[in-house]
Amino acid sequence: MVGIIRRDTPSPPAYVAREPKESPMPRPIINEDECSGCGICVDACPEGVLELVDDVAQPVNEDDCTACGTCMEECPMGAITEIEED
Ligand code: SF4
Ligand code: SF4
Repeated sequence: MVGIIRRDTPSPPAYVAREPKESPMPRPIINEDECSGCGICVDACPEGVLELVDDVAQPVNEDDCTACGTCMEECPMGAITEIEED
């Protein structure tokens, strides 16, 4: 006699459809009056967000900013005062 082995299969997990979440757009805010143009933040940023433009640091690739805060920590002038997220 051939037996039939039945195994209960686990129910598939219930998935909840979610709307895709807009990612925040963090970016450094640079006080141009305080910036000495030393370039430390440009070198320190791991994402290549910052560049010197006319000897003032500017966020040129804002979309790549992860709001890690490194530029703010490294700036000797305290010119990067805020990481703003939209
Ligand atoms: S580290 Fe500070 S002072 Fe130096 S370029 Fe960047 S923002 Fe300007
Ligand atoms: S917060 Fe981080 S990723 Fe964003 S500009 Fe500063 S160093 Fe670069």
